[in-house]
Formats: sequence, C-alpha cells, structure tokens
Amino acid sequence: MKIIQSGLELRAWRKSIPREETIGFVPTMGALHEGHLSLVRASRDKCSQTVASIFVNPLQFGPNEDFSRYPRPLEKDIHLLSQEKADILFMPAPQEVYPNNISTFVIEESVSLPLCGAIRPGHFRGVTTIVLKLFNLVQPDFSFFGQKDAQQCAVIERMVRDLNVATKIIRCPIVREADGLALSSRNAYLSPSDREKAPLIYQSLQAAERAFRQGEKSVAHLTSMGRAILESEPAFKIQYWDVRHPSTLETLESLQEIGPGGALCAVAAILGTTRLIDNWVLGGLA
Ligand code: AMP
Repeated sequence: MKIIQSGLELRAWRKSIPREETIGFVPTMGALHEGHLSLVRASRDKCSQTVASIFVNPLQFGPNEDFSRYPRPLEKDIHLLSQEKADILFMPAPQEVYPNNISTFVIEESVSLPLCGAIRPGHFRGVTTIVLKLFNLVQPDFSFFGQKDAQQCAVIERMVRDLNVATKIIRCPIVREADGLALSSRNAYLSPSDREKAPLIYQSLQAAERAFRQGEKSVAHLTSMGRAILESEPAFKIQYWDVRHPSTLETLESLQEIGPGGALCAVAAILGTTRLIDNWVLGGLA
C-alpha cells in the first residue's frame, strides 16, 4: 500500500492509472473498525484499484463537538488498511486540504436539512465540501459509503446527481456488534455501563421492524413505540427517532404505499457524552 499525503502526488498517481482500470474510493476519518473495512472489501471486490482516505475533517465538526478528542490511532489504521490490501492511502494534513482562506463550499439545501442537519448546523456543508474535494482529487469510478450514515449517503447521492459528479455511490450495509450496536469510532467513548445500554437503540429499531411486518403502517404509532422503548432507559437523551423517505428524507404519515426503497427509521441519541446514530430500512428491497 502506497501512502500519499499531498494532493499533487495523488493527482500524479491518478494520471498514471490506465483508462481500463476501475478506481474505488473509501473516504474515512480513521479509527478504523470492521464497518470501514467492509467498505474497503466491497471496493476491492468491484474495482481494480482501491483508494482509502483518512482525514478528520474539521469543517464537519461544530464548535462544541469532539474534533480534538476524535480518536486518531494512525499506526493501527495503516496496518489494517495494508492488511486489507488497499492500494493507496491518502492521508493529507489539514493545511493541505484547507490552505488559508478557503471561501468556496458545497451546500445541499434539502436532504441535509432535517435530522442530523437540524441538530448539527453546518455539519453536512462540511461533509459535502470535503467529499467533493476528495472526489475531484481521486476521480473514482465507484465510491463506497456506509448505510450507517444513511442521511450522509442521501446527501452525497443528491450532490453527485445535482453537480454531475462522475462517480457511482455504492451504499454498503451496516456492520454491527453481536448485540446489535452499530460499529462506530465513537463507541470507544462509551463507559462500560453505557456500552451495556447502547444496544437498546437497535432493539427499538427491531421492534419497529416487527410491528411493521405485523401490519402496523401508521408512522405515528411506529414512532411512539420506538421512542418509548428508548425512553425506558433514562440514560438516553433522544435527539430524534423518526420515519422518513429513504432518499428525500421527507416525513411520511403512512407506510401503506412505500416505494421499493422502503422507509428509513432513523435514530440519534446521546448516551453519557457520546452521540450515537443508527437506522433501519422498513420494507426495503435491499
Ligand atoms: P467515518 O470514519 O465515521 O467518517 O466513516 C467512514 C465511512 O464508514 C462512512 O461511509 C460510514 O458510513 C462508514 N461506516 C461507519 N460505521 C459503519 C458501520 N458500522 N457499518 C458500515 N459502514 C460504516
């Protein structure tokens, strides 16, 4: 695996790749776990060259968020990516990505507004800006993102469509612990007792799935049931527990006539000092 730290060098590498090769791209913020590695494997399966990136993007963190304490176990990450046989690791310094005074940003104005967008103002502007910058450097044929961040997937798919970006977004399934907790770099912040409580998020989603399969089509009923399960543990502060259209993220009232993409049940909650998100697609074909 070749490690590249400068944009110029990455461009030179990209130019050296023959047209018949296919490039897969896996952007990450590091602190890698099986979720990230599943994206690298998906890229390796589909593409002849896989580029992974590690960049903790300051632009997507709010002023009171965890940018400075975000885990950065670089040596371990490099080891994991080379084990997975990524071809390139792009690991730029912040100054390389954001030289002084950048004044051009990418703002998606619809899908990014509700859910995490409402709770973390500016977050998706940071995400779309860095992702487009990375797409411009890597010029990947396929780009791999985790369904774990379902709204992020929807925002990036919209950006790619709206701005004619020549990459295809591949959504990869959520990788979970045995007890259902979705893998996240932030799980490392959980205290042992909060770690025991954390799978309740997944259980609340599974309860909605069961009710849906048994015929419950009212979003109000599904939502109040899912919320009540999470609220039964007072340690959770729920930010949202919502059912929405999977690609527009518009609210839904009934699941009587949902499309082939199903309906997205999305949850965000604070447990201790850790913000956790998770989701489940009800009635999806995938
Ligand atoms: P992050 O490093 O948190 O920015 O995540 C990088 C990529 O890994 C994103 O596309 C995430 O959606 C994806 N990812 C994170 N956790 C998981 C997971 N548990 N399962 C699948 N993909 C994940």
